[in-house]
Amino acid sequence: MPDKPPRPQRAEPREIVELKQIRVAQPELASAVDMQLALVDMQRRVQSRVPLPWIQPDPAWVAAQQTSGRPLVRFQDIPLEWSDFRLTFRQTADILVRFDALERADHSAIVAMGREGDLLQPILTQWYDVSAGFDGSPDRQRTPPDAPASLEQVLVLALRPFLSRCAEAIGQRVDLTSWAHGHCPFCGWEPDFAVITPQGDRRLICGRCVGQWAFGAYTCPFCTNDDRALVTSFATRDGRYRVYACDVCRRYVKAYDGRGATRPLMVAVDSIATLPLDAAAIQRGYAG
Ligand SMILES: [Zn+2]
Ligand SMILES: [Zn+2]
Repeated sequence: MPDKPPRPQRAEPREIVELKQIRVAQPELASAVDMQLALVDMQRRVQSRVPLPWIQPDPAWVAAQQTSGRPLVRFQDIPLEWSDFRLTFRQTADILVRFDALERADHSAIVAMGREGDLLQPILTQWYDVSAGFDGSPDRQRTPPDAPASLEQVLVLALRPFLSRCAEAIGQRVDLTSWAHGHCPFCGWEPDFAVITPQGDRRLICGRCVGQWAFGAYTCPFCTNDDRALVTSFATRDGRYRVYACDVCRRYVKAYDGRGATRPLMVAVDSIATLPLDAAAIQRGYAG
């Protein structure tokens, strides 16, 4: 009897392959790569269980939201299954503490919130409504006063697999060309990455829902400074990545330069590959 042919291995997703390549090429980033691999793996598993939501907002409401600079995903639109969210929340905290990206004490407090079902729900709802700009009451805080500051980082990562589905669904049916704000048209959060298209336009990427929108290449999304003389821009030696740093508010955003690139942007990969650029920007006195 001839040996059975070996079972073909299932191909790894491209972003996993690329992350592993970074670990080889830049061993000093190994720990950051491993944490990202764990997060990407978990988020992919969650996202495969999250249905694409059916969001069909009223066109007049959409127009009014866009005119007033308010986002389009309301909390009730997010396809959240609470037990699944609580699990994702705890697993996110576990990954962060494993790679020393979260203090032990904060981890304990955060995991305790995730254990008790009725604790997390109002915290998440308030955090989303206030940070998205739906709840504009001046004295409403994003998070409870006794919560650790790192709670927001865990909420951002844990909500992403659910929220990104909304950005996907709305992006397919709403025209966003008139959106001229520096914050996200889907969820109201700040951009934390950008991509330069092959045509040379810049698109910002939301740091919470990973939605994209077009924005002036030399306008600062954080303070709207558009004086080109007050925007410092520098690139990596291979020209693959670029930093736009604002000399008015001293904040910066990194970008993947898609002109002549061999692959499209992969935020999970490119945000790790550019960690040395963060160090360079911070050294020059800018903040992320
Ligand atoms: Zn967003
Ligand atoms: Zn600025």
